[in-house]
Amino acid sequence: MNLAEKCGVFGAQVTNGEVFHMLYWGMLAQNHRGHQSHGFATWDGDIEVYTQLGLIPPNQGFGFDVKSLKGSVGIGNVRYATSGSLDLGARQRDAMPIRVNGEKRSVAISFNGNIVNVRDLQKRVGVDQSYSDTHALALLILQKLEETGSIEEAARACMGGIDGSFAVTGIVDDGTLFAFKDPIGVKPLCYGKSKGVHAFSSESVGLDINGIKWDHELSPGEFMAVEEEEVIRRQLVESQRRAFCAFEFAYFMRPDSRVKEKFVYQARVEFGRALAHIYAEKAKRCDVVVSLPETADDAAYGFHEEAGIPWERATRRHRYVTQRAFITDVEYRDSVIFRKVNILEPLIKGKRLAVVDDSIVRGDTTRATVKRLRAAGAREIHLFITYPRILGPCFYGIDMATYSQLIGARMTPEEIAVEVDADSVNYLTIEDYVKCTELTREQFCLGCMTNDYPTPMADSLAKEMWNKLKRGETEKGRIYEST
Ligand code: SF4
Repeated sequence: MNLAEKCGVFGAQVTNGEVFHMLYWGMLAQNHRGHQSHGFATWDGDIEVYTQLGLIPPNQGFGFDVKSLKGSVGIGNVRYATSGSLDLGARQRDAMPIRVNGEKRSVAISFNGNIVNVRDLQKRVGVDQSYSDTHALALLILQKLEETGSIEEAARACMGGIDGSFAVTGIVDDGTLFAFKDPIGVKPLCYGKSKGVHAFSSESVGLDINGIKWDHELSPGEFMAVEEEEVIRRQLVESQRRAFCAFEFAYFMRPDSRVKEKFVYQARVEFGRALAHIYAEKAKRCDVVVSLPETADDAAYGFHEEAGIPWERATRRHRYVTQRAFITDVEYRDSVIFRKVNILEPLIKGKRLAVVDDSIVRGDTTRATVKRLRAAGAREIHLFITYPRILGPCFYGIDMATYSQLIGARMTPEEIAVEVDADSVNYLTIEDYVKCTELTREQFCLGCMTNDYPTPMADSLAKEMWNKLKRGETEKGRIYEST
């Protein structure tokens, strides 16, 4: 399956020298979190911003005009747009980091998340609806910074009255680097340090690539700032509940990233083992395990170990086809899927396949994959899906906005199997999924699996959308933006 995260963030301060190379590598390691635009901001007495559409070029000397990005403090971003207008001009304007200037102060932020009550926030800070939620959040931070003179107080103002998810890195016009997470901690954001370096990254791979030692995952509601040599760490709110996005484990994060002590690949191997254990009878019917590259590879390995049947690498990715299908429009999505993965017919022909995949969202990727496996001569196709059945939309930055677009909200696993032309569809249960991560159910957002959302506005919007669907009315995409 192909899904899209909204964004990846990074920020660093170095005691001696220039920070830009760290921002570059920190973001390149997280390019999978956003392909639509990328950008950097550095501070060298003033804040300079560079943004560009598309992926970060894999060669830092090529296609970049970043000579002005000097300084020892900076932030970076890769973005998928799920908020604001989606036309070209808007995507250029909304590329991050976003710098906003007030009468006395200025600030730049890099943001990962989604603000559910964005219209309220836009009204409150006086910004047009066509702008992204990041603009509104940046203006709120700026207003509070001008009022109080404290970036900590500005971050505190974001902790109340905002329904949604946010993980933020930023720089203030005095050279302070800061980072904070929403009160329920939906998105990942970690802190690392090494001699002369402090850094924040959505995923730990952004630290690893720079040789920075991972220190901790920020708690929900935690604020940190680095002012010259001083590191400030504050718990701005005591969270009533935690709601880390469960999808991060199955799909978004790189397998070599970590959530607290657990590496993502370890959880994925366990997902595969659990699937093979729960569906042992079906697994026994199969001749080979096949995975959809690359997010299901670790799970396929676990499945193969538990079931004792060979894992054939019968699907190969075209290395430089990087577009993620989930975020693209329907017509384009099919061609992206076709171009991304090649099928090795000799490993498929006449075989009964256990196909391990990370998720089924709309069903079109799965249908296209099954079609290609059948065309390559597969005798039977049993799908084993690591992410439990998706029953509801996401309001926190993942582009699955309505019930009607989700095949799992409309059909049972048996009906989905018929719809996508598979012999069976077998999901991991929520309980087993959570167990494999070694976190507890109370630490996760499981909204898209349970229809029980961790914030009040998302919860009531979900109910409203579901009732609309039952009445036969059309749901609006990204409905949370139209309220
Ligand atoms: S609703 Fe699903 S995709 Fe969205 S944050 Fe919660 S677990 Fe993640």
